[in-house]
Amino acid sequence: MNDLFKKLISHAKEYGFIFPSSEIYDGLSAVYDYGPNGVELKNNIRKYWWDSMVLLHENIVGVDSAIFMHPEIWKASGHVGAFNDPLIDNKTSQKRYRADVLVEEYLEKINQKIEKELSKAAKRFGDEFDEKQFRETNPRVLANQQKKDEIHKRFVTALENNDLKDLKQIILDCEIADPVSGSREWTDVRQFNLMFETKLGSLSEDANSIYLRPETAQGIFVNFLNVQKSSRMKLPFGIAQTGKAFRNEIVARQFIFRMREFEQMEMQFFVKPGEELKWFKSWKEKRMKWHQSLLVDHSKLRYHDHDKLAHYANAATDIEFNYPIGFKEVEGIHSRTDFDLSQHQKFSGKKLQYFDTEANKSYVPYVIETSIGLDRMFLAVISNAYSEEKAPNADGKLEDRLIMKIPPALAPVKIAVLPLVKKDGLPEKARELIKTLQYDHNCQYDEKDSIGRRYRRQDAIGTPYCITLDHQTMTDNTVTVRDRDSMKQDRVLIPELPGFVSEKLSMRKLFEKL
Ligand code: ATP
Repeated sequence: MNDLFKKLISHAKEYGFIFPSSEIYDGLSAVYDYGPNGVELKNNIRKYWWDSMVLLHENIVGVDSAIFMHPEIWKASGHVGAFNDPLIDNKTSQKRYRADVLVEEYLEKINQKIEKELSKAAKRFGDEFDEKQFRETNPRVLANQQKKDEIHKRFVTALENNDLKDLKQIILDCEIADPVSGSREWTDVRQFNLMFETKLGSLSEDANSIYLRPETAQGIFVNFLNVQKSSRMKLPFGIAQTGKAFRNEIVARQFIFRMREFEQMEMQFFVKPGEELKWFKSWKEKRMKWHQSLLVDHSKLRYHDHDKLAHYANAATDIEFNYPIGFKEVEGIHSRTDFDLSQHQKFSGKKLQYFDTEANKSYVPYVIETSIGLDRMFLAVISNAYSEEKAPNADGKLEDRLIMKIPPALAPVKIAVLPLVKKDGLPEKARELIKTLQYDHNCQYDEKDSIGRRYRRQDAIGTPYCITLDHQTMTDNTVTVRDRDSMKQDRVLIPELPGFVSEKLSMRKLFEKL
């Protein structure tokens, strides 16, 4: 784990964003709890997603389906038979890995070597640099590209044929070592089902086995007709849902990136058969824009097309974010054909069709899915926000400033209200001020320690505005408003405060970028 990632994890704990679950009992592997600041940030990210789907699209509506569902659903969806990950154990460290992830990481390393050569050459040649020509002629780049292409081709074939033997052979041939022990002693690759099973009913003897849902999507599919009819939806239309999902992940060592209990935000968009690839392209672009709206540096995002399409998909791509642990999937966009609805039709014996009044016929719609992990999005936001800077203190000396540059509309606390001193009526006036602001914004009152220390505390949780009341406040009804990022202070009349702060804090600013 690199330094930045470690710092982020300890910062998240110290400032009440994320705690390890059941910590006083030594924790529970790959399960985490959100603290007071974490829950606010998580709620804000969820709201931004929800509103950009449901509020901004008249043809998208929401549902909230139960976590427990009829066990047949998971047979129909294919999860009982095939929701497997290929796993491999290292004999020396006894650690378990996903075989496909080991190979993908190896390929990414070769890719990084190529990128390094390119950026070195770009620096050396300046404006003269011709990337295409360099790629086609530089021997080191050519050799690495050839190696990458060969392994990639073999890897895709092994995945497509479910050839676990060759998957292991690739790991051996590439001399991939255990990142923990450096050992190359590997077991065979095996398949492992990721669903958690539990019992429904009070007596275990006659209880039925059910599963904790591994994705929220199926709750949408089985409600397709209920929603379509009750809301009188016409194709194309979407159903959005957020909620918990559970997967018994075999490799879960990356903080909230891979958890056993996590939250998804999914939207299934139902379209006319034959129009799915047009809509796939449109959602791919829309979702990228959504991610870009939260970032200044768009190079932290990229698409990654799937190496192996699931048997039901005719197009699939991931949006990847450059986490401190490298580029990794934050969201998947999949064209799922009519697989899910057809399967549920078959297994339930109930028709799940749409009557198209224009074409005067019924058919099973096709589906485009956008599926994003709320926790992974949370990790992307805090990774991107974490920054260490130097800033002058009260005496003008430079000191470290740790600042979470969370987009203002998502920040857990929007406004800190700080009386300069704990007397002379300032605390009372500050509390009065909070009363006028708290209907619209999450405000925090703080009177402890010097004003400089209080500013630092708010910077560390990403509070966009600190409002300070001083003695001048009592005479002219003005306060200072300090901007988190620029540290610039403006003197503002109290009645003008709501207007002054609300523009930057509102989600509208983000929506306008979509
Ligand atoms: P991965 O390949 O990383 O296991 P996946 O392709 O299985 O992910 P999907 O089934 O497409 O993931 O799930 C959609 C989204 O749900 C992912 O893009 C991710 O953001 C989130 N997600 C999936 N598994 C986890 C997990 N174990 N912990 C946190 N988020 C997850």
